[in-house]
Amino acid sequence: MTTPLLGQMMDVPLNVSSLIAHAARYHGTTGIVSRRIEGDIHRYTYRECEQRSKQLAQALMRLGITAGERIGTLAWNGYRHLEAYFGVTGFGAVCHTINPRLFPEQIAFIVNDADDRYVLFDTTFAPLVAQLAPLCPNVRGWVALTDEAHLADCASIAAPVLCYETLVAAEDGAFDWPVLDERSASNLCYTSGTTGHPKGALYSHRSSVLHAFGASLPDAMGLSSRDSVLPVVPMFHVNAWGIPHAAPLSGAKLVLPGKDLDGKSLFELMEAERVTFSAGVPTVWMGLLNHVRQQGTRFHSLERTVIGGSACPPAMLRAFEDDYGVRVIHAWGMTEMSPLGTLASLNWEQSQRPREAQHALLQKQGRAMFGVDMKIVGPDGAELPWDGVAFGDLHVRGPWVIDRYFRHDESPLVNGWFPTGDVATIDPDGFLNITDRSKDVIKSGGEWISSIDIENIAVAHPAVAEAACIACAHPRWTERPLLVVVKRAGKTVTRDELLAFYEGKVAKWWIPDDVVFVDELPHTATGKLQKLKLREVFRNHVLPTALGGECGGLGGS
Ligand code: ADP
Repeated sequence: MTTPLLGQMMDVPLNVSSLIAHAARYHGTTGIVSRRIEGDIHRYTYRECEQRSKQLAQALMRLGITAGERIGTLAWNGYRHLEAYFGVTGFGAVCHTINPRLFPEQIAFIVNDADDRYVLFDTTFAPLVAQLAPLCPNVRGWVALTDEAHLADCASIAAPVLCYETLVAAEDGAFDWPVLDERSASNLCYTSGTTGHPKGALYSHRSSVLHAFGASLPDAMGLSSRDSVLPVVPMFHVNAWGIPHAAPLSGAKLVLPGKDLDGKSLFELMEAERVTFSAGVPTVWMGLLNHVRQQGTRFHSLERTVIGGSACPPAMLRAFEDDYGVRVIHAWGMTEMSPLGTLASLNWEQSQRPREAQHALLQKQGRAMFGVDMKIVGPDGAELPWDGVAFGDLHVRGPWVIDRYFRHDESPLVNGWFPTGDVATIDPDGFLNITDRSKDVIKSGGEWISSIDIENIAVAHPAVAEAACIACAHPRWTERPLLVVVKRAGKTVTRDELLAFYEGKVAKWWIPDDVVFVDELPHTATGKLQKLKLREVFRNHVLPTALGGECGGLGGS
C-alpha cells in the first residue's frame, strides 16, 4: 500500500463558536432584535451577542461546568436563548434545548436522561419549572433568563433559582474561545417520542457547522447578509432548523419573536423589522395568512419562507406565491437529521416549465441538499426506482444524520443508512414526496393510500380550515380512509359535497369512506397532527361502507 499524498491545508476544526466569532468580527454592527418576555423590544448586535455569550461561558465555568456536561434550556426565541447557543457550546458544554410544550413528566424524563446540570428558563415557564424541580433532583440549579427585578415570578420554585443577568454581569467576557475537537458534542435535541420514550440526538460541532453551511446555500434557505431573518420555528425545535447557526454564518439580521406567535404579532414584527425570510410549520402560517387576509393587507418586505415539519398543503403554497408574491420553499427533515434533508426549489430547466408543472414540483418536499444522500426501499430492502410512483421506506445518510441515539448502544442504522420512518416516492427530477409516516399510511386491500394527499385536497376546499385523514377498520379492505375536518369559521359544507370534491382528483378507491366534522384537531408539541390520538378517538367509528362490506371508491356509494 502506498502512503496517500496528503493535502497541505490547515486542519482547522469546525467549531460552533466560530459562527458567532465570525459574525461579531465581520458583521459586528448587524442587529439581533428580540421581542422579550418582559413585553418590550430588545435590540443589540452580533458583537454584543458574542461578548455576552463569552460572559455566560465564564459564568458556567465558574459554576463548575466542564466540557461535555449538559445545560438545558426551556425558552422561546430570544437573545438570551441565542447566547446559550454559543455560551454553552463555546467552551465544550452541550446546549440541550427542551420543548416546553411536552407533558411535565415527559420533560422530567428528558432532563434526567440528558442529566442536565443547570436548566436555563424563560420566566413564562416558572410554573412548569416549579412542577419539574422535585422530579429532577440532579439539576443543581434553575437559571431564570431575566434580571433581579423579574425574579419574583419564580417564587413558587422549591429549588435553587439563579438570575441569568446577575451571573452574566459578574463576568468580563475577556477570554478566547478554546479550540475544540470538532467531533465533540455541541447540541442535544430529543425527538418528541410519539411512541415510547423520547430519544436524544446528540449533534457535534462538525455536524452543526456543516449543517449551517448547507442550510445557507442558495437552493436551501439562501441566507445572506442582505437578509432580515425571523425564525418562527422555535429554538427548542431542532435548533430552529439551524437558523441560529446559519444566520451568523451569513451575517443576516436576526429577528426573534418571543412567545407571541399569533398571526397579528408575527405580521407586525415582520413589517417593523423589514423581514425578508422566515421559517415555520404550516399551522403557524395558517394563522399568519388568516390575519393578512382579514386585514386585507400585504407583506411589504417578506420575500421567501421555508415551510416544513409537516406537509405544506398546496393551497397554502399557492396563497403565498400567487396572492402575496412570497416564495415558498417546502422542506423536509427530522430531529435525527439536524434537521434539514430536502428542500424544493426549481432548477433552471424546471423553471421553464408551465406554471402548473412548476407547482406540482414545488409542493413536493424537494431535492436532497448536498451532504444528504437518500433512497427508498421496498419491504425486502431493495432500492426502488425514482419514477414518482413507487412508494418505499425512506433511508438517508450524511454527515449531519444521526449514527446512534444518546445513551443507546444499539445502532438504528440499516446497512449504514438511517431509516426515517417516512414513506415516500422520488420522481425522475429527484424530488422527494413524503406520502406518510409509515405508521400513518392507510393500507386498503393491500394497497397504500397516502393520507397527506387526501388531506391536501380537503384543505383546498374553501370551507375547510384543517383536515386529517386516518385509517379506520374495515371488514373487507382491512383499512379505509376516514376524513376528520375542521370547517372554516362561518362556512358550511356537507359530507357529500366534500366527497364529491375528490372526484377526478385521485383514484376512486382513494376517496375517503366517511367524513366527520369536529371543532378542532389534536396537535403534537411541535404542531403536527396527532394521528395516534385521532385513531384512538375514532377506533370504534363504523364506516357506512363497512356495513355493506363495500367501500366508497371501489364501487360503493
Ligand atoms: P417530532 O415532531 O417527532 O419531534 P421531527 O420534528 O423530527 O419530529 O419530525 C420529523 C418528521 O416530520 C419527519 O420524519 C416527517 O414525518 C415529518 N415531516 C417533516 N417535514 C415534513 C414535510 N415537509 N412534509 C411531510 N412530513 C414532514
